[in-house]
Amino acid sequence: MSTSTKAISYIAIASILLILFAQAYLVYDYFQTVRFALMRESNAILKEAFRIDLDQRNTNYVDYNINDSDNTTLDDESVLDFDMRDIETENDGILNKIDILLHLLLSNLIPLNIEHIDTITNKILHDRNIASEFVIQLIAPEHQEVIASSKKLSKSSLFIIPSQLYPLDFENKEALQLILINPFSEIIKRMGVMLLISIIFSLIALLAFRFLILTLSKQKKLVRFKNEFLSNIAHELKRPVASLTVNLDGLQDPDIFSNTGMRDLMLHNSLNALTEMNGTISMLVGLAREEEGLLVLNKQPVNLVDIIMDLKNRFASSLGKRVSIHTNFESEAIVVQGDSIMLTQCFANLIDNAIKYSEKDVTININIEIHGSHAALDFQDQGMGIPADKIEHIFEKYSRVDNHAKVAGFGIGLNYVKTIIEKHGGSIGVSSEVNVGSIFKVLLPYK
Ligand code: ADP
Repeated sequence: MSTSTKAISYIAIASILLILFAQAYLVYDYFQTVRFALMRESNAILKEAFRIDLDQRNTNYVDYNINDSDNTTLDDESVLDFDMRDIETENDGILNKIDILLHLLLSNLIPLNIEHIDTITNKILHDRNIASEFVIQLIAPEHQEVIASSKKLSKSSLFIIPSQLYPLDFENKEALQLILINPFSEIIKRMGVMLLISIIFSLIALLAFRFLILTLSKQKKLVRFKNEFLSNIAHELKRPVASLTVNLDGLQDPDIFSNTGMRDLMLHNSLNALTEMNGTISMLVGLAREEEGLLVLNKQPVNLVDIIMDLKNRFASSLGKRVSIHTNFESEAIVVQGDSIMLTQCFANLIDNAIKYSEKDVTININIEIHGSHAALDFQDQGMGIPADKIEHIFEKYSRVDNHAKVAGFGIGLNYVKTIIEKHGGSIGVSSEVNVGSIFKVLLPYK
């Protein structure tokens, strides 16, 4: 990875972490706001429930007094025995003090029932559309001790929102508290849009990050591939250049030059090297043109037999291998309409592959037959063969069989062959068996 690519990756990782952190912070901050809002709302609900309960108790008390006028507890000195100046609770106004006073007056006859407050609270929560479990507790604020509870606080109460304590007297002996239990759904409902936007933002950031990483790794692969490709081309061109150098060097020697046999062989080899170089270059140019839609065939009558015979001569001697090419033609002249140079390059590729992917002794059989409206050419070798799972890929650009890696090549030859043959309206197929050999079958429109 280049330094700039590394720097981009680090900056991207840092930015993505920053975005995620910022999102997490925003969500947390908003969660706290929602939690406080819910806490304030539970204070109001508890107060409302207490007032409704007080109201109902008061009504009951009045009914009770009408029915039984002799019995009154409002004369009870113990209840009324306080100084109004002591009415001082931290948070509540005069209305609360009156409520407390009324509660104290009623308590003796109709005591507060937290189950009843629970029922009222349930209704208020329901009316306010708050779906959460809850419990009403009677607390002794001084010792933070629970005196009574409308329900049992279960162990699964992971997360609670307690209301403020609602005092029931002026000596801070008893207070009510509403506790919302696991109000997750309510919190999520309230955070809704914000949470959704945050999730979408984080997802977009993560997707962008993934895209960046994929692009970077693609770019890395591309650079590696380009280097391999260039070194393969260089290697592929080195072979004919080396042959050319050796042969031309030899021809400078007056002894060799005067030997007609040697001179002809070296000239033949030099020409072959140039043709090979030319072939590789025109293949690269041809494929590039085809990709841009600019490849044009220069069609004219071509005798396939002549092409194959020329190639047979060209490939008769191969460096370090004993090559024997057997040909079998249905007739002396099998003429098709085609681009002679490109078809020659295609067949040269097939023969070159047959030699490359065979051991030292190379036997190649080339047949040409007429099959109805097609000329059928078979190129058969007894070489390494192609594994079954690779066969369908070998015509793809840059595709090579792994265990053929020790043989020089860059995987465009067969792609070129297929492209050119199909451009002629023909087709190519292969059948092969590992260590037995391969047959490449080419069909070209005939007449
Ligand atoms: P190159 O020979 O430059 O690698 P080609 O496109 O000509 O590229 O061939 C693609 C792959 O198909 C080769 O790398 C080789 O693995 C396999 N192949 C082609 N022809 C033969 C053959 N006659 N015998 C065995 N394998 C072959």
